[in-house]
Amino acid sequence: MGDSRILFAASEVYPFAKSGGLADVAYSLPRALNNTYDVDVIMPLYQFIDRERFGIEAMGETFHIMMGRKAYPVTFYICKYEDMTYRFVYTPLLCDRAFLYGPPQGGYADNDIRFALFNYAVLEILKRDTYEVVHLNDWQTALLPLLLKNEPKIETKSFFTIHNLAYQGIFDKKTLSRLGIDEKYFHMDSLEFYGQVNFMKAGIAYADRITTVSPTYAKEILTPEFGCGLEGFLQYHSAKLTGIVNGIDTEHFSPSNDKMLVQPYTDLRGKSVNKSAFLKEIKVKEPQRPLIVFIGRFTSQKGLEILIDTLPDMALMVCNLVILGDGEKQYHDALKALAKKHDNIYLESGYDEALSHRMYAASDFFLMPSLFEPCGLAQMIAMHYGSIPVVHRVGGLADTVHDHAEFDSKSQKGYGVVFTKPDHDALLHAVEKALQLYGTKTKCNKIVKHNMLCDFSWRESGELYIKEYERLREES
Ligand code: ADP
Repeated sequence: MGDSRILFAASEVYPFAKSGGLADVAYSLPRALNNTYDVDVIMPLYQFIDRERFGIEAMGETFHIMMGRKAYPVTFYICKYEDMTYRFVYTPLLCDRAFLYGPPQGGYADNDIRFALFNYAVLEILKRDTYEVVHLNDWQTALLPLLLKNEPKIETKSFFTIHNLAYQGIFDKKTLSRLGIDEKYFHMDSLEFYGQVNFMKAGIAYADRITTVSPTYAKEILTPEFGCGLEGFLQYHSAKLTGIVNGIDTEHFSPSNDKMLVQPYTDLRGKSVNKSAFLKEIKVKEPQRPLIVFIGRFTSQKGLEILIDTLPDMALMVCNLVILGDGEKQYHDALKALAKKHDNIYLESGYDEALSHRMYAASDFFLMPSLFEPCGLAQMIAMHYGSIPVVHRVGGLADTVHDHAEFDSKSQKGYGVVFTKPDHDALLHAVEKALQLYGTKTKCNKIVKHNMLCDFSWRESGELYIKEYERLREES
């Protein structure tokens, strides 16, 4: 196994580029597997990535990739970072942009060409170099299994992970000729989706194996409620689909060793130092109150409507609420208005990794009222930092957070406050229960300490990925 080479391709990888959990997984999963295999990671070299800081260097001459009738210049780059090899694809159309996928109001119109180019570039790597498995992630890399079908000389097996089915990469039919993809693939068993081209379908149809990021989400996406129109297609391909829950990198997210904190900690006393410092930092008026936080993308997926609807009632309770996020303007405006109106609601706008760490460390409770959640990392990070999650029981939240009423100190499960309906009343009631729990200090502290000691690392899930890779290799 040690000599087997895996190429892990993703459109975002921490610390080079991150918009959400995919970047965390693309950083931490390859590292977890690198003891067993020789894993290289490949991603686009976006213009904002600091080449000097990471020692990123060109590898060979610029060459051209033919796609449709056009030739696009491409250069490969490489660096070593924390003992891992990172490969990069630089091509101006893909990389010279301010955002990864587009501004908050919507994706770039030429994302089809941008990410198809990325797929063609990864294909080129597979032609030049030998990898047993190429591990692809989400729609941005989903064309590759189809491209591989037309390359019989390449023996690499394709492994496709769905991190979020809500983003499928759907484009006008005209894109086929721009991408140089044969019209014969434009039918419902392949790329066609209600008259359009769907990248995600290529990954599902042609990858040798498919995983998604939690067992519950793997079941949910086979139903109309969560399948985003692909439930039937996924049912058809379900024999090659498994759910493996994500882990977190417990070195990067480590309260005992986190350089972004005012004081790293291993116990509740240390945690309270971080809470006081953070409340001072944002000038909270009544710092003795329990602190509830939300960190996440401002999109409907994360339960923003319910959150905004419920916040005025939460604000009447004895607590402080701090929200950090970035995303759709209408949610941002509504939250800004609420923060202006209520003394105990605070809004921090934008994307700020260090601030998020300070907030995990400071908080007593962590809100995740998501409508759907493929896995969710934030709730695991929160538990690891001793913040009790308050979550809607859906997807990966159902797999990783168990209701505190069932608390069992001998289990390895994480506990929080779990509610079953994504609406105002259920969320409000859950927050009430959380605050009651805060009032019963002994029980609350027991749960916090228990969660902090739980193993949310890749140890177990890494083994499951290894099993899946090995099954694939045996099939060859
Ligand atoms: P998703 O991938 O759907 O956005 P996850 O819970 O899987 O959600 O992962 C979110 C990751 O992004 C976590 O590491 C979280 O701390 C981080 N994050 C989200 N929003 C922000 C923000 N505004 N600033 C800093 N970190 C953020």
